[in-house]
Amino acid sequence: MNPDTRVFHRQLATRPPLAVKGQGVHLFDAEGRAYIDASGGAAVSCLGHGHPDVLAAMHAQIDQLAYAHTSFFTTEVAEQLADQLVSTAPAGMSHVYFVSGGSEAVESALKMARQYFVEIGQPQREHFIARRQSYHGNTLGALAVGGNEWRRAQFRPLLIDVTHVAPCYEYRDRHADETPEQYGQRLVAELAEAIERLGPDKVMAFVAETVGGATAGVLTPVPGYFKGVRELCDRHGILLILDEVMCGMGRTGTLHACEQEGVVPDLLTVAKGLGGGYQPIGAVLAQERIVDAMRQGSGLFQHGHTYLGHAVACAAALAVQRVIQRDGLLAQVRERGAYLASRLQAVLGEHPHVGDIRGRGLFWGIELVQDRATRQWFDPSLKLHARLKAAAMAEGLMIYPMGGTVDGRCGDHVLLAPPFISSPEELDAIVDRLVRALAQVM
Ligand code: PLP
Repeated sequence: MNPDTRVFHRQLATRPPLAVKGQGVHLFDAEGRAYIDASGGAAVSCLGHGHPDVLAAMHAQIDQLAYAHTSFFTTEVAEQLADQLVSTAPAGMSHVYFVSGGSEAVESALKMARQYFVEIGQPQREHFIARRQSYHGNTLGALAVGGNEWRRAQFRPLLIDVTHVAPCYEYRDRHADETPEQYGQRLVAELAEAIERLGPDKVMAFVAETVGGATAGVLTPVPGYFKGVRELCDRHGILLILDEVMCGMGRTGTLHACEQEGVVPDLLTVAKGLGGGYQPIGAVLAQERIVDAMRQGSGLFQHGHTYLGHAVACAAALAVQRVIQRDGLLAQVRERGAYLASRLQAVLGEHPHVGDIRGRGLFWGIELVQDRATRQWFDPSLKLHARLKAAAMAEGLMIYPMGGTVDGRCGDHVLLAPPFISSPEELDAIVDRLVRALAQVM
């Protein structure tokens, strides 16, 4: 281990630069170098850094009350944030369960699903179905439903058995003679087969990211796919859990990505953009009938964490959500997202090693390939994504790169998720620096 750090960093051989300040779309290190936060960290910093309204709300809250354990009290700010989230939630979602991040949100949703079926007298439902090339977090339940083999492989003995079906990965998996709609129907048919195999009355829930993020560089659903999934789940009394920890809270241009699919989930997880990185916070939005089953049944959701509903975290998230509403930032995400997409297409659309550019709003993935014609990925041993990240940092650019998984199905990708407040000039700078970083590694 590097001797000059006692922090157990992700990368044990190197010490990352020391971040000392954040302002707008920039982070600054101790040497005074500025980095454009083109990935919002990991699609977190939707308002950028140092937003005065969020800081003021946090200060006001901390002066008043920082923390009250939820087994003793509720707080005004948690109630207000829940009201705000319910008032903007998909139809029927009546309650919000607060947690401290994305994995906790997914973990809580899985347990809500299980307890719901126990409460309504269907304890035989024991299985989750999820998708390959997905990411739902690193805690054990979330990792089990996740479909990133690289992350799962060594922890397999610790994971519950989950059935994984194909994700919606149009660039790689749609047949040339299929329309996007037909491809979506084929995926729904595969899910139907998995349900039949397990037994329709044995399945608790289907878990999916509405728009895939951290594994395969933004996977957007084809039209009709989620409608088909929803119908199938309804037919068999199976819950639909949509994980919008990364793609939710405005990132794709609507508050919830599922709005664009015309579906309403039973449970919806959100996190990153909820608090915009100002505090660790996540949430599960739940349909009334799920909450009601527990209210009428045992009267207790048998789960919980010490910091759930933390008052300062709720204050930060409430301020972030109010700024998004007040400043019309959802429309801005759509408009600036279209601009970013056009710039990426113009500059990288014909690049010999860019296979696909895909995304929505300010959530874009770039899939890198060795050969555009065959769509062959680079050899994972080249660690292209890691070298690209280093080259980008040297250019003063933060991007979220992803690379080879052990199942060989995930090549190198770049994920861009800049703050909603990014100006067109800042988006230009992101694209320019990315092009320079790419030129250095390929
Ligand atoms: N779910 C999705 C879709 C994610 O992208 C992530 C993180 O990237 C998580 C869950 C886990 O969130 P966290 O890292 O806050 O635990």
